[in-house]
Amino acid sequence: MPDNSVKEMSCPACGATMRFDPETGKMICDWCGTTAEIEKEESKEEATAEEAAKPAKDVIEGFDFESLNDQAVDASAEAVPIYHCKSCGAELIAPPEQISMTCPYCGSNVVLTQKVSGKLRPDGIIPFKIDPKSLPEHMTKYYKDKVLLPRKFFTGGKMDKVSGVYVPFWVFSGNISGELTFSGTTSTSSRSGDYIITETSVYDLERKVSMDFSDVPVDASGKVKDQMMDSIEPFDMSEVVGFDMRYLAGFTSDRFDEAKKSIANRAKKRMFSTAESAARSRILGYDDVKKTGGHLTASVNAKYILIPAYFFKIDFDGKEYEFAVNGQTGKVAGTLPIDKSICIRYYLVRALAALISIAAPFVALYLMGR
Ligand SMILES: [Zn+2]
Ligand SMILES: [Zn+2]
Repeated sequence: MPDNSVKEMSCPACGATMRFDPETGKMICDWCGTTAEIEKEESKEEATAEEAAKPAKDVIEGFDFESLNDQAVDASAEAVPIYHCKSCGAELIAPPEQISMTCPYCGSNVVLTQKVSGKLRPDGIIPFKIDPKSLPEHMTKYYKDKVLLPRKFFTGGKMDKVSGVYVPFWVFSGNISGELTFSGTTSTSSRSGDYIITETSVYDLERKVSMDFSDVPVDASGKVKDQMMDSIEPFDMSEVVGFDMRYLAGFTSDRFDEAKKSIANRAKKRMFSTAESAARSRILGYDDVKKTGGHLTASVNAKYILIPAYFFKIDFDGKEYEFAVNGQTGKVAGTLPIDKSICIRYYLVRALAALISIAAPFVALYLMGR
C-alpha cells in the first residue's frame, strides 16, 4: 500500500530535496540549482476539489465553531504520530500539531499530508518573503535606536538555531451589529448667594451599532506566545495565496491547536471592544459617559491561514533573549538586555537636560535683572 501520509519535496532533475526560496518565491534545489515555479492555478484547482469535503464554516453565527468538527481533526491527525521518511526510511515522530518538517537523519523536506488535507486544509498561506540569510540585517536595524542596549550584545550575543515557522491563524471578517446603551452626564454650576448649586442631568443614550470587519488575525497556535505574534503584526492579507504544500518545504509548520472556543472569544473581545469604543467616540457633549448595557451579535467568517515567522533566541551573559521576526515584512519583536551603566548615564543626562531647561529662564531673568 502506498504511504500517502508523507509527501517529499524532491528535485525532478537530481532527486535531492527541494525547498521553498523566499527570495524568488520558487522551489529550489540547493544541489543542482534546479528551480520550479509554484503555479498558482494548480493549487487553486486542488483546493476546489477538496472544497467539497469541507464543512460549512463560512458563516459562524455567534461564533459557534462546532461546525469545524473536532472529531475529524482528532481522528485524522492525532492517530498517526509516526511517519516514515521516504528517502532514508527513518521513523519520524511528529507532535500532533506539526504539519511539515525536515528529516533529522537525511535532511529531506517533508510535509505530513493528512494534516493539511480535507477538513484540515488551510484556506490560504502567506509565503515567506524574508530570507533567513537576511535576518542579521533586520536585527541590526532593530538594534540601531536601542540606546540602552549593552554594546557587547552585538558581538557577544549568540544567535541559536533559527526556525522558520508557518504559524496557524484564524482570520476573521464579518459584521458586528446590535445596540449599546450608555448614560451620559452633564453638570452645570451656578452661584446663588453663599451657595454653589450644581445641577446634574443624566441622559439615557442608545446607539445602534453596525460595523464591518475584515482580516482580524488571531493566532491559533498554543506554542507561540500571543504577545510575541501580536508584536510582529501587521501582516499584509492581500498577499494571501491559495494553499500549496510546496510553500512549506524547508520550513516547520503547525496546524491550529488552540481551543477554538478560546480563539473565538479572543477575536470576539477584540471586535466587540472596537465596536464599543467606536460607538462611544460618537457620543459628544457630555462630561461623563458610561456603558449601561446592550447586546452585540457577530456574523463572522473565519479563514484558516498559515503565516510566516522566524523564531530564535540570543544567548547573552548567561541569559536567553527571545525574538520573533515577521517572515513577510522583517519586523522584529523581542526582549533586549539593558546595560545598567548606560542606563544610569542616560537618565542622568536626561535629568540634567530637563533641569537646565527648567532653570534656564530663571537664570536668564536673574541675569537680566542685574
Ligand atoms: Zn536537483
Ligand atoms: Zn530521511
